[in-house]
Amino acid sequence: MRNRAKCKLCLSLIESFSTHDFVRCSCGEIFVDGGQSYLRCGANDFKNFIRVEDDGTEKEVTFVPFDEKIAELEAKKKSISPNKEVVPEIQEKKEAMTLAEHLAVLGDMIKHMEVLPEGALFSPSSQYDHLSLLIWLNSFSTCLSSQLRDLHAKLPASSVHQ
Ligand SMILES: [Zn+2]
Repeated sequence: MRNRAKCKLCLSLIESFSTHDFVRCSCGEIFVDGGQSYLRCGANDFKNFIRVEDDGTEKEVTFVPFDEKIAELEAKKKSISPNKEVVPEIQEKKEAMTLAEHLAVLGDMIKHMEVLPEGALFSPSSQYDHLSLLIWLNSFSTCLSSQLRDLHAKLPASSVHQ
């Protein structure tokens, strides 16, 4: 795509042909730069900036500040995958684990940490460490409560209401 633009104020048609080809319109309102490699452009007011497509059609542009664009993209990402579903794979796996397996994991975690060299033992933990623990705790609790529910269901009706 060619790097061409037209100024609404002075009507000059400008084009940047190469990386260091900085071109301003005659009134100084708009500029293009960077040739086709990075299509840089600018304007005092983007209302006066018209992008000229390769086929000659003129297109008005809307200027979106960089951090607004980022925020917009972030919001879009969040609406696709809400925070809750960030670790669905791990949780699914752990939900299928039995109580004994959960306790085995806990035992392993403890054994693992007990043999850490002193330097590592006293190093600060991160949010990620907390997250792993919370994930384990969450799936452990889910498992425990479903086991209790099963147990409850198996109890004879008379002893349920106590
Ligand atoms: Zn101009």
